[in-house]
Amino acid sequence: MLKLSGIVAKYGNITALKGIDLEVPAGSVVSLIGANGAGKSTTMKTITGLMQATEGQITFCGQEIKGLAAHQTVSRGISLVPEGRQILGRMTVLENLMIGACQRRDNEIQADIRRLFDRFPILGERREQTGGTLSGGQQQMLAIGRALMARPKLLLLDEPSMGLAPLVVADIFRIIREINQEGVTILLVEQNVRQALKVADYAYVMETGKIILHGKTEEIIHNPRVVEAYLGGK
Ligand code: ATP
Repeated sequence: MLKLSGIVAKYGNITALKGIDLEVPAGSVVSLIGANGAGKSTTMKTITGLMQATEGQITFCGQEIKGLAAHQTVSRGISLVPEGRQILGRMTVLENLMIGACQRRDNEIQADIRRLFDRFPILGERREQTGGTLSGGQQQMLAIGRALMARPKLLLLDEPSMGLAPLVVADIFRIIREINQEGVTILLVEQNVRQALKVADYAYVMETGKIILHGKTEEIIHNPRVVEAYLGGK
């Protein structure tokens, strides 16, 4: 579904991505792991068009998408749940969700909102409350809900478990699994490597702008380098 070949991206003189090759097959959950500053968020930004790659190709459903702006990748079917959630704290839950649907022209938006409130009852209860009054976990649900309102084929999740309590993290990973089972392909960036490898089918490990390792999660999880660096050496 998504294929990156030789992607290079820069912040001024700093080359954050040094030739990334990555594939996300339709229907899968692929996880991208790596230390702080490895280039995971930059990879997400180049896929969505929030940042432009200087070299390489990005194809989505067989079409070149490199060079498209962020609103264009959304209309092609790619939604990002950004790092730090980025919900609008002064707008209501419902308004935040409607922003996710702002490019849609169909008449099923209200039905999707109702389905979303079935999935996240707490968001339904708090639909008229401002986003800023929600807990961290609820804000993450809202950020995921907002992204789903665009009806994505591919959902990109950047550190969805960051700063959340363990029980809430478990809930977020359950939700990710459910969304995938409903047919949405997922690319997941996580520092919580153990959880990320539980939910993913395939994983890429990044270090300083490069993919250093990739494979099926059952192989990656036993790789000595991964165990040493990301799984606490156990
Ligand atoms: P984190 O988990 O900390 O977000 P990451 O793997 O997502 O890490 P990136 O945020 O993609 O890493 O950063 C990759 C590299 O690009 C790092 O060296 C970082 O310092 C640099 N970088 C990121 N954003 C900027 C920016 N706005 N300006 C300059 N350099 C940046």
